[in-house]
Amino acid sequence: MTSEDIDYKKIELIMDLRNRGIVDRKLLSAIERIPREIFIADAFAGQAYADQSLPIECGQTISQPYIVAYMTSKLEVDDRHKVLEIGTGSGYQTAVLAKLCRRVYTIERYRTLSRQAQEHLDSLRIANVTAMAGDGYKGWPQQAPFDRIIVTAAAPEIPQALVDQLKEGGIMVLPVDAEREDFSGKYQKIIRLTKHGEGVETEKLIDVRFVPMVAGVAKEL
Ligand code: SAH
Repeated sequence: MTSEDIDYKKIELIMDLRNRGIVDRKLLSAIERIPREIFIADAFAGQAYADQSLPIECGQTISQPYIVAYMTSKLEVDDRHKVLEIGTGSGYQTAVLAKLCRRVYTIERYRTLSRQAQEHLDSLRIANVTAMAGDGYKGWPQQAPFDRIIVTAAAPEIPQALVDQLKEGGIMVLPVDAEREDFSGKYQKIIRLTKHGEGVETEKLIDVRFVPMVAGVAKEL
């Protein structure tokens, strides 16, 4: 693909996101400024601006642009926020967040992915991200509390350690396993949780499909 092709497809994607209700200008501008093609393998570069998830190393996926935009918009981040992200994957969602908040702490269970994501962020001169290989179920207690938490892997239920590491008034957005009434396959609902005092308020949003959240650091890579 030529760079004109890429520019054209990117404009089409931004228009499509707007038509689907993503209207936050800072968010759209962040998506416009981050070259998604560098986060994926060359073999898939031609599909970088198609609205679809794509395979990355370690059997994982880079999320679909609409879902990245949707979850980010529901997170309501601003430039004073300290954000925790679970499931760095390619680092694409991390890069979008980094453009919108003060600092992103991101955890990935595959060392290979964490390292590659860091390299991609470095190549874009994004300097307000701290990445580590670890188990996202534990969160990052040394850096807690967080204004916002986003999880991009599917958990069977809301991880309590993450709720504990959220600031008072903070928001967490994550996919949580759901069961179809006809049991026709796995999917999740995006949940938005707001922390108030001792209690939490949860809101069920759209249906999605994410790779599972798996406990422990990956041994393989
Ligand atoms: N936002 C990423 C999505 C990656 S897919 C992107 O757009 O590229 C989800 C990622 O979560 C996978 O890379 C997977 O390895 C990771 N993951 C799964 N369970 C995890 C856990 N317990 N802690 C940290 N990362 C986890």
